[in-house]
Amino acid sequence: MSEGEAMPTGLNRREFLTLAGVAGVGLLAPTLFPLSEALAASSLDQAPLPYALNALEPVISERTLAFHYGKHHAAYVANVKKMLPGSGLEGKSLEEIVKATAAKGGGLFNNAAQSFNHALYWKCMKPGGGGLPSGKLLEAITASFGGYDAFRKAFVAASVGQFGSGWGWLARKDGKLEVLSSANADTPLAHGATPLLVVDVWEHAYYLDYQNRRADYVDAFMDKLVNWDFVAANLG
Ligand code: MN
Repeated sequence: MSEGEAMPTGLNRREFLTLAGVAGVGLLAPTLFPLSEALAASSLDQAPLPYALNALEPVISERTLAFHYGKHHAAYVANVKKMLPGSGLEGKSLEEIVKATAAKGGGLFNNAAQSFNHALYWKCMKPGGGGLPSGKLLEAITASFGGYDAFRKAFVAASVGQFGSGWGWLARKDGKLEVLSSANADTPLAHGATPLLVVDVWEHAYYLDYQNRRADYVDAFMDKLVNWDFVAANLG
């Protein structure tokens, strides 16, 4: 049968192949479903930054974001994809991988947690952010800390006081908000808490712009960058 010649069904060959392909996918769908979930590990991909590389200037320079997002975060994401095959966690979401590897730690945990922490960190900032939270979030902060100023003081102290590389957090655990700090890749997700706000206090986050002045970076983060709408949305 030559290309384009009518088939007995009245379909030409091209149409038949197209329909056969669609039917095939339909028939095989139940079997393929776990595979398509694994491919949906697109959730492991590095999401685009929610703003331009220079959008947080002058608080965080384009140069810092270019290295931080384009090299540091990108490397953690690439490492997760490299380490995932054979781990038994193929097809899981980033959050599931972090939780599943938290108890024993190791390379996959470190890279998955760093991928998660960074993805959250980018969303916790916006150009022209900072200032005061409002609404339900402010009420929750006041209920847990006594007020915004007390919360801010605790958050800054935990973040600036974290010895070496790590993260400063506002998280919810057992219905209460807590300020936490974590070392290296560690994350509240690994400890049954829900992260709401995070600041990266690894030196790569601020050294090009602030050198050793971590406190100035955290102050500027709080007053000029925090995306309180995102933090409030995390509260649920
Ligand atoms: Mn970082």
